[in-house]
Amino acid sequence: MTELYPLALRLDGRLVLVVGGGAVATRRVPALLAAGAQVRLVAPELTPALRGLADAGRLTWQERPFAEDDLDGVWLVQVAVDDHEAAESVSGAAERRRIFCVRADDRHAASAWTPAVARHGAVTVAVLAGGSPRRAVAVRDRIANLLATDEATVPETVKGTVALVGGGPGDPELITVKGRRLLAAADVVVADRLGPGLLLDELRADVELVDVAKLPYGPAAQQEEINRILVGRAKAGLFVVRLKGGDPYVFGRGGEEVLACAEAGVPVTVVPGVTSAISVPAAAGIPVTHRRVAHEFTVISGHIGPDHPDSLVDWPALARLRGTLVILMGLKNLPAIVASLLAHGRDAATPAAIVQEGTTDQQKSVHGTLADLPALAEQLNPPAIVVIGDVVDVLPTTF
Ligand code: SAH
Repeated sequence: MTELYPLALRLDGRLVLVVGGGAVATRRVPALLAAGAQVRLVAPELTPALRGLADAGRLTWQERPFAEDDLDGVWLVQVAVDDHEAAESVSGAAERRRIFCVRADDRHAASAWTPAVARHGAVTVAVLAGGSPRRAVAVRDRIANLLATDEATVPETVKGTVALVGGGPGDPELITVKGRRLLAAADVVVADRLGPGLLLDELRADVELVDVAKLPYGPAAQQEEINRILVGRAKAGLFVVRLKGGDPYVFGRGGEEVLACAEAGVPVTVVPGVTSAISVPAAAGIPVTHRRVAHEFTVISGHIGPDHPDSLVDWPALARLRGTLVILMGLKNLPAIVASLLAHGRDAATPAAIVQEGTTDQQKSVHGTLADLPALAEQLNPPAIVVIGDVVDVLPTTF
Protein backbone atom coordinates (compact mmCIF):
# COMPACT_ATOMS: atom_id res chain seq x y z
CA MET A 1 0.00 0.00 0.00
CA THR A 2 1.27 3.52 -0.76
CA GLU A 3 1.72 6.00 2.07
CA LEU A 4 -1.36 7.56 3.64
CA TYR A 5 -1.66 11.32 3.66
CA PRO A 6 -2.66 12.46 7.18
CA LEU A 7 -5.11 15.31 7.36
CA ALA A 8 -7.39 17.00 9.89
CA LEU A 9 -10.85 17.91 8.65
CA ARG A 10 -12.90 20.96 9.56
CA LEU A 11 -16.35 19.43 9.63
CA ASP A 12 -18.11 22.34 11.32
CA GLY A 13 -21.50 22.74 9.62
CA ARG A 14 -20.65 20.17 6.93
CA LEU A 15 -22.83 17.23 6.10
CA VAL A 16 -21.45 13.78 6.95
CA LEU A 17 -23.28 10.60 6.04
CA VAL A 18 -23.17 7.68 8.46
CA VAL A 19 -24.55 4.40 7.14
CA GLY A 20 -25.45 1.91 9.86
CA GLY A 21 -27.00 2.31 13.30
CA GLY A 22 -25.18 -0.28 15.40
CA ALA A 23 -22.23 -0.36 17.77
CA VAL A 24 -19.70 1.11 15.31
CA ALA A 25 -21.92 4.07 14.47
CA THR A 26 -22.60 4.59 18.18
CA ARG A 27 -18.86 5.01 18.72
CA ARG A 28 -18.24 7.21 15.68
CA VAL A 29 -21.15 9.65 15.76
CA PRO A 30 -20.26 11.55 18.98
CA ALA A 31 -16.85 12.60 17.62
CA LEU A 32 -18.49 13.80 14.40
CA LEU A 33 -21.01 15.83 16.40
CA ALA A 34 -18.23 17.20 18.62
CA ALA A 35 -16.49 18.38 15.45
CA GLY A 36 -19.66 20.27 14.55
CA ALA A 37 -20.63 18.01 11.63
CA GLN A 38 -24.23 17.80 10.48
CA VAL A 39 -24.84 14.06 10.68
CA ARG A 40 -27.21 12.26 8.34
CA LEU A 41 -27.72 8.75 9.67
CA VAL A 42 -29.16 6.09 7.41
CA ALA A 43 -30.13 2.79 9.03
CA PRO A 44 -33.27 0.68 9.42
CA GLU A 45 -32.59 0.42 13.16
CA LEU A 46 -30.65 2.40 15.77
CA THR A 47 -29.05 1.59 19.10
CA PRO A 48 -30.75 3.35 22.04
CA ALA A 49 -27.85 5.83 22.30
CA LEU A 50 -28.20 6.84 18.64
CA ARG A 51 -31.96 7.00 18.93
CA GLY A 52 -31.51 9.37 21.87
CA LEU A 53 -29.40 11.67 19.68
CA ALA A 54 -31.99 11.47 16.89
CA ASP A 55 -34.84 12.24 19.33
CA ALA A 56 -32.90 15.19 20.67
CA GLY A 57 -32.54 16.57 17.15
CA ARG A 58 -28.74 16.26 17.18
CA LEU A 59 -28.79 14.38 13.86
CA THR A 60 -31.23 13.47 11.11
CA TRP A 61 -32.23 9.84 10.76
CA GLN A 62 -33.47 8.11 7.61
CA GLU A 63 -35.13 4.91 8.81
CA ARG A 64 -34.24 2.66 5.87
CA PRO A 65 -31.28 1.12 4.05
CA PHE A 66 -28.84 3.28 2.08
CA ALA A 67 -29.97 4.89 -1.17
CA GLU A 68 -27.70 6.65 -3.65
CA ASP A 69 -29.38 10.04 -3.00
CA ASP A 70 -28.16 9.94 0.59
CA LEU A 71 -24.81 11.12 -0.77
CA ASP A 72 -26.25 14.43 -2.02
CA GLY A 73 -24.38 17.33 -0.48
CA VAL A 74 -22.16 15.07 1.64
CA TRP A 75 -18.46 15.78 2.36
CA LEU A 76 -17.54 12.50 4.02
CA VAL A 77 -19.05 9.06 4.49
CA GLN A 78 -18.67 6.68 7.40
CA VAL A 79 -19.80 3.16 6.55
CA ALA A 80 -20.62 1.42 9.80
CA VAL A 81 -22.23 -1.82 8.61
CA ASP A 82 -20.82 -5.34 8.80
CA ASP A 83 -22.39 -6.54 5.57
CA HIS A 84 -19.57 -6.43 3.02
CA GLU A 85 -21.84 -6.12 -0.01
CA ALA A 86 -23.90 -3.32 1.48
CA ALA A 87 -20.69 -1.51 2.48
CA GLU A 88 -19.26 -2.03 -0.99
CA SER A 89 -22.28 -0.43 -2.64
CA VAL A 90 -22.01 2.66 -0.39
CA SER A 91 -18.29 3.10 -0.91
CA GLY A 92 -18.61 2.44 -4.64
CA ALA A 93 -21.22 5.18 -4.95
CA ALA A 94 -19.09 7.52 -2.82
CA GLU A 95 -16.04 6.84 -4.98
CA ARG A 96 -17.94 7.69 -8.15
CA ARG A 97 -18.89 11.02 -6.59
CA ARG A 98 -15.33 11.59 -5.26
CA ILE A 99 -16.42 11.61 -1.64
CA PHE A 100 -13.97 10.15 0.89
CA CYS A 101 -15.31 7.08 2.63
CA VAL A 102 -14.33 5.33 5.87
CA ARG A 103 -15.29 1.67 6.16
CA ALA A 104 -15.64 -0.27 9.38
CA ASP A 105 -15.94 -3.65 7.66
CA ASP A 106 -12.80 -3.48 5.50
CA ARG A 107 -10.36 -0.67 6.06
CA HIS A 108 -8.24 -1.72 3.09
CA ALA A 109 -11.17 -1.10 0.77
CA ALA A 110 -11.73 2.37 2.26
CA SER A 111 -10.51 5.66 0.79
CA ALA A 112 -10.07 7.21 4.28
CA TRP A 113 -9.08 5.95 7.70
CA THR A 114 -9.98 7.27 11.12
CA PRO A 115 -7.04 7.28 13.53
CA ALA A 116 -6.99 6.48 17.24
CA VAL A 117 -7.24 9.87 18.88
CA ALA A 118 -6.07 11.39 22.16
CA ARG A 119 -7.00 14.94 23.09
CA HIS A 120 -5.05 16.81 25.69
CA GLY A 121 -6.00 20.44 26.00
CA ALA A 122 -5.20 22.06 22.66
CA VAL A 123 -3.14 19.09 21.46
CA THR A 124 -4.72 16.35 19.38
CA VAL A 125 -2.76 13.20 18.65
CA ALA A 126 -3.96 10.92 15.87
CA VAL A 127 -2.34 7.52 15.46
CA LEU A 128 -2.51 5.20 12.45
CA ALA A 129 -0.73 1.89 12.70
CA GLY A 130 -0.75 0.40 9.23
CA GLY A 131 -4.19 -1.06 9.57
CA SER A 132 -3.90 -2.47 13.08
CA PRO A 133 -6.43 -0.56 15.22
CA ARG A 134 -5.27 -2.43 18.30
CA ARG A 135 -1.71 -1.22 17.88
CA ALA A 136 -2.92 2.30 17.08
CA VAL A 137 -4.86 2.37 20.34
CA ALA A 138 -1.91 1.02 22.32
CA VAL A 139 0.44 3.66 20.90
CA ARG A 140 -2.20 6.34 21.40
CA ASP A 141 -2.57 5.36 25.07
CA ARG A 142 1.17 5.55 25.66
CA ILE A 143 1.35 8.99 24.09
CA ALA A 144 -1.68 10.13 26.10
CA ASN A 145 0.12 9.08 29.29
CA LEU A 146 3.19 11.04 28.28
CA LEU A 147 1.06 14.09 27.56
CA ALA A 148 -0.52 13.85 30.98
CA THR A 149 2.82 14.63 32.52
CA ASP A 150 4.02 17.06 29.88
CA GLU A 151 3.73 20.69 30.92
CA ALA A 152 4.41 21.83 27.36
CA THR A 153 0.83 20.95 26.46
CA VAL A 154 -0.49 23.67 28.74
CA PRO A 155 -0.95 26.89 26.83
CA GLU A 156 0.84 30.09 27.85
CA THR A 157 -2.57 31.60 28.42
CA VAL A 158 -2.85 29.95 31.84
CA LYS A 159 0.12 31.97 33.13
CA GLY A 160 -1.16 34.54 35.57
CA THR A 161 -4.33 32.61 36.32
CA VAL A 162 -5.66 30.45 39.13
CA ALA A 163 -7.37 27.06 38.82
CA LEU A 164 -9.41 25.80 41.72
CA VAL A 165 -9.12 22.05 41.33
CA GLY A 166 -11.26 19.54 43.18
CA GLY A 167 -8.85 16.82 44.20
CA GLY A 168 -11.45 14.25 45.21
CA PRO A 169 -11.88 12.58 48.60
CA GLY A 170 -8.37 11.19 49.17
CA ASP A 171 -7.64 8.34 46.79
CA PRO A 172 -5.27 9.99 44.30
CA GLU A 173 -6.99 8.18 41.44
CA LEU A 174 -10.21 10.03 42.13
CA ILE A 175 -9.13 13.37 40.73
CA THR A 176 -10.58 14.29 37.31
CA VAL A 177 -8.51 13.99 34.14
CA LYS A 178 -8.68 17.77 33.72
CA GLY A 179 -7.68 18.38 37.32
CA ARG A 180 -4.68 16.14 36.95
CA ARG A 181 -3.63 17.80 33.72
CA LEU A 182 -3.74 21.26 35.30
CA LEU A 183 -1.94 20.03 38.40
CA ALA A 184 0.89 18.71 36.23
CA ALA A 185 1.17 22.16 34.65
CA ALA A 186 1.21 24.22 37.83
CA ASP A 187 4.02 26.57 38.78
CA VAL A 188 2.57 26.83 42.28
CA VAL A 189 0.31 24.38 44.12
CA VAL A 190 -1.58 25.62 47.15
CA ALA A 191 -2.76 22.63 49.15
CA ASP A 192 -4.18 21.93 52.56
CA ARG A 193 -4.73 18.95 54.79
CA LEU A 194 -7.80 17.73 52.91
CA GLY A 195 -6.38 17.55 49.38
CA PRO A 196 -5.21 14.08 48.39
CA GLY A 197 -1.64 14.23 49.63
CA LEU A 198 -0.38 11.50 47.34
CA LEU A 199 -0.98 13.69 44.31
CA LEU A 200 1.66 16.07 45.61
CA ASP A 201 4.27 13.33 45.33
CA GLU A 202 4.04 13.57 41.57
CA LEU A 203 4.80 17.29 41.30
CA ARG A 204 7.95 18.35 39.50
CA ALA A 205 10.76 19.37 41.83
CA ASP A 206 10.63 22.99 40.67
CA VAL A 207 6.97 23.44 41.58
CA GLU A 208 6.42 25.63 44.62
CA LEU A 209 4.20 23.85 47.11
CA VAL A 210 2.39 26.08 49.57
CA ASP A 211 0.94 23.96 52.35
CA VAL A 212 -1.72 25.90 54.17
CA ALA A 213 -2.58 22.97 56.43
CA LYS A 214 -5.58 24.32 58.22
CA LEU A 215 -6.63 23.20 61.65
CA PRO A 216 -10.33 22.25 61.72
CA TYR A 217 -11.24 25.34 63.69
CA GLY A 218 -8.40 27.58 62.59
CA PRO A 219 -8.68 31.35 62.38
CA ALA A 220 -10.47 33.07 59.50
CA ALA A 221 -7.24 34.96 58.96
CA GLN A 222 -5.92 31.77 57.40
CA GLN A 223 -8.38 32.12 54.52
CA GLU A 224 -7.30 35.70 53.88
CA GLU A 225 -3.72 34.52 53.71
CA ILE A 226 -4.68 31.83 51.18
CA ASN A 227 -6.49 34.40 49.04
CA ARG A 228 -3.48 36.67 49.23
CA ILE A 229 -1.14 33.87 48.10
CA LEU A 230 -3.39 32.90 45.17
CA VAL A 231 -3.70 36.46 43.92
CA GLY A 232 -0.06 37.38 44.58
CA ARG A 233 1.44 34.40 42.77
CA ALA A 234 -0.93 34.76 39.81
CA LYS A 235 -0.12 38.48 39.53
CA ALA A 236 3.54 37.50 39.42
CA GLY A 237 2.74 35.65 36.18
CA LEU A 238 2.60 32.13 37.55
CA PHE A 239 0.01 29.42 36.98
CA VAL A 240 -1.47 28.68 40.38
CA VAL A 241 -3.41 25.52 41.18
CA ARG A 242 -5.44 25.63 44.37
CA LEU A 243 -5.89 21.94 45.15
CA LYS A 244 -8.93 21.35 47.31
CA GLY A 245 -10.39 18.26 48.93
CA GLY A 246 -13.49 16.82 47.26
CA ASP A 247 -15.34 19.41 45.21
CA PRO A 248 -14.23 23.05 45.50
CA TYR A 249 -17.75 24.34 46.10
CA VAL A 250 -18.90 21.89 48.75
CA PHE A 251 -18.11 23.52 52.12
CA GLY A 252 -14.67 24.32 50.78
CA ARG A 253 -14.71 28.13 50.72
CA GLY A 254 -14.13 27.81 46.97
CA GLY A 255 -16.59 30.62 46.35
CA GLU A 256 -14.59 32.97 48.56
CA GLU A 257 -11.38 32.15 46.71
CA VAL A 258 -13.06 32.75 43.34
CA LEU A 259 -14.37 36.10 44.57
CA ALA A 260 -10.96 37.13 45.88
CA CYS A 261 -9.41 36.36 42.48
CA ALA A 262 -12.21 38.10 40.60
CA GLU A 263 -11.90 41.21 42.75
CA ALA A 264 -8.18 41.31 42.08
CA GLY A 265 -8.76 40.88 38.33
CA VAL A 266 -7.11 37.44 38.26
CA PRO A 267 -8.81 34.99 35.84
CA VAL A 268 -9.90 31.85 37.63
CA THR A 269 -11.29 28.50 36.48
CA VAL A 270 -12.98 25.90 38.63
CA VAL A 271 -12.54 22.19 38.02
CA PRO A 272 -15.21 20.19 39.86
CA GLY A 273 -14.19 17.25 41.98
CA VAL A 274 -15.62 14.04 43.37
CA THR A 275 -17.14 15.19 46.63
CA SER A 276 -16.58 13.22 49.81
CA ALA A 277 -20.29 13.66 50.58
CA ILE A 278 -21.12 10.94 48.05
CA SER A 279 -17.89 9.06 47.50
CA VAL A 280 -16.94 8.45 51.13
CA PRO A 281 -20.23 6.73 52.03
CA ALA A 282 -19.82 4.75 48.77
CA ALA A 283 -16.33 3.66 49.82
CA ALA A 284 -17.89 2.22 52.98
CA GLY A 285 -20.54 0.34 50.99
CA ILE A 286 -23.30 2.92 51.47
CA PRO A 287 -25.18 4.20 48.40
CA VAL A 288 -26.61 7.64 49.24
CA THR A 289 -29.82 6.72 47.39
CA HIS A 290 -31.44 3.36 46.75
CA ARG A 291 -34.69 2.58 44.97
CA ARG A 292 -37.60 2.16 47.41
CA VAL A 293 -35.36 3.24 50.32
CA ALA A 294 -34.29 6.83 49.79
CA HIS A 295 -35.33 9.22 47.07
CA GLU A 296 -33.33 12.11 48.41
CA PHE A 297 -30.12 12.85 50.19
CA THR A 298 -29.26 16.02 52.04
CA VAL A 299 -25.70 17.18 52.62
CA ILE A 300 -25.24 19.23 55.76
CA SER A 301 -22.35 20.99 57.40
CA GLY A 302 -22.24 20.11 61.09
CA HIS A 303 -19.47 22.56 61.98
CA ILE A 304 -21.99 24.75 63.81
CA GLY A 305 -24.28 23.01 66.27
CA PRO A 306 -28.10 23.16 66.12
CA ASP A 307 -28.39 25.54 69.06
CA HIS A 308 -25.77 27.97 67.87
CA PRO A 309 -27.12 31.42 66.92
CA ASP A 310 -25.17 31.36 63.64
CA SER A 311 -26.73 28.09 62.48
CA LEU A 312 -28.38 28.30 59.03
CA VAL A 313 -29.69 24.71 59.17
CA ASP A 314 -33.35 23.89 59.82
CA TRP A 315 -32.75 20.79 61.97
CA PRO A 316 -36.43 20.22 62.83
CA ALA A 317 -37.17 20.06 59.07
CA LEU A 318 -34.27 17.65 58.53
CA ALA A 319 -35.61 15.43 61.32
CA ARG A 320 -38.88 15.05 59.40
CA LEU A 321 -37.18 13.89 56.18
CA ARG A 322 -37.23 10.18 55.35
CA GLY A 323 -34.19 10.24 53.09
CA THR A 324 -30.47 10.13 53.70
CA LEU A 325 -28.65 12.74 55.78
CA VAL A 326 -24.94 13.17 55.08
CA ILE A 327 -23.18 15.31 57.65
CA LEU A 328 -19.72 16.73 57.02
CA MET A 329 -17.58 18.29 59.75
CA GLY A 330 -20.05 16.96 62.31
CA LEU A 331 -18.05 14.88 64.78
CA LYS A 332 -17.62 17.54 67.46
CA ASN A 333 -21.27 18.57 67.45
CA LEU A 334 -22.67 15.09 66.97
CA PRO A 335 -24.29 14.76 70.42
CA ALA A 336 -26.22 18.02 69.93
CA ILE A 337 -27.11 17.09 66.32
CA VAL A 338 -28.42 13.68 67.31
CA ALA A 339 -30.39 15.16 70.23
CA SER A 340 -32.02 17.65 67.88
CA LEU A 341 -32.93 15.02 65.25
CA LEU A 342 -34.42 12.75 67.92
CA ALA A 343 -36.30 15.60 69.60
CA HIS A 344 -37.91 16.50 66.29
CA GLY A 345 -39.04 13.04 65.39
CA ARG A 346 -36.39 11.05 63.52
CA ASP A 347 -36.54 7.39 64.62
CA ALA A 348 -33.80 6.49 67.10
CA ALA A 349 -33.40 3.12 65.36
CA THR A 350 -32.54 4.67 61.98
CA PRO A 351 -29.36 3.00 60.70
CA ALA A 352 -26.31 5.26 60.87
CA ALA A 353 -22.59 5.10 60.16
CA ILE A 354 -19.46 7.18 60.48
CA VAL A 355 -16.66 6.90 57.94
CA GLN A 356 -13.22 8.32 58.67
CA GLU A 357 -10.65 9.09 55.94
CA GLY A 358 -12.77 7.39 53.32
CA THR A 359 -11.18 6.14 50.06
CA THR A 360 -7.69 6.22 51.62
CA ASP A 361 -5.72 3.31 53.05
CA GLN A 362 -6.55 4.72 56.50
CA GLN A 363 -10.30 4.32 56.01
CA LYS A 364 -12.26 3.25 59.09
CA SER A 365 -15.99 2.99 59.54
CA VAL A 366 -18.42 2.19 62.33
CA HIS A 367 -22.09 1.24 61.99
CA GLY A 368 -24.99 1.49 64.40
CA THR A 369 -28.16 3.51 64.85
CA LEU A 370 -28.95 7.19 65.15
CA ALA A 371 -29.10 6.82 68.92
CA ASP A 372 -25.65 5.17 68.98
CA LEU A 373 -23.92 7.91 67.05
CA PRO A 374 -22.48 9.98 69.94
CA ALA A 375 -20.81 6.87 71.38
CA LEU A 376 -19.59 5.74 67.95
CA ALA A 377 -18.12 9.18 67.30
CA GLU A 378 -15.72 8.71 70.18
CA GLN A 379 -13.98 5.92 68.30
CA LEU A 380 -13.13 8.13 65.33
CA ASN A 381 -11.35 11.36 64.38
CA PRO A 382 -11.84 13.98 61.67
CA PRO A 383 -12.05 14.03 58.74
CA ALA A 384 -15.15 11.89 58.96
CA ILE A 385 -18.61 11.75 57.45
CA VAL A 386 -21.79 10.78 59.25
CA VAL A 387 -24.52 9.04 57.27
CA ILE A 388 -28.01 8.61 58.66
CA GLY A 389 -30.75 6.69 56.87
CA ASP A 390 -31.97 3.28 55.77
CA VAL A 391 -29.41 3.23 52.95
CA VAL A 392 -26.75 2.50 55.56
CA ASP A 393 -27.95 -1.11 55.82
CA VAL A 394 -29.01 -1.67 52.26
CA LEU A 395 -25.88 -3.45 51.04
CA PRO A 396 -24.09 -6.29 52.80
CA THR A 397 -20.87 -5.10 54.41
CA THR A 398 -18.86 -7.26 52.02
CA PHE A 399 -19.90 -7.57 48.41
N1 SAH B 1 -15.06 20.12 49.66
C1 SAH B 1 -15.00 18.88 50.37
C2 SAH B 1 -15.55 19.02 51.76
C3 SAH B 1 -14.86 20.05 52.61
S1 SAH B 1 -15.47 20.10 54.25
C4 SAH B 1 -15.73 17.79 49.58
O1 SAH B 1 -16.44 18.08 48.62
O2 SAH B 1 -15.53 16.62 49.91
C5 SAH B 1 -14.39 18.99 55.07
C6 SAH B 1 -15.13 17.77 55.55
O3 SAH B 1 -15.35 16.87 54.48
C7 SAH B 1 -14.42 16.95 56.59
O4 SAH B 1 -14.51 17.51 57.87
C8 SAH B 1 -15.16 15.66 56.49
O5 SAH B 1 -16.42 15.73 57.10
C9 SAH B 1 -15.40 15.57 55.00
N2 SAH B 1 -14.37 14.76 54.33
C10 SAH B 1 -13.58 15.15 53.32
N3 SAH B 1 -12.80 14.13 52.90
C11 SAH B 1 -13.12 13.07 53.66
C12 SAH B 1 -12.69 11.71 53.70
N4 SAH B 1 -11.76 11.23 52.86
N5 SAH B 1 -13.25 10.89 54.62
C13 SAH B 1 -14.20 11.34 55.45
N6 SAH B 1 -14.64 12.60 55.44
C14 SAH B 1 -14.13 13.46 54.56
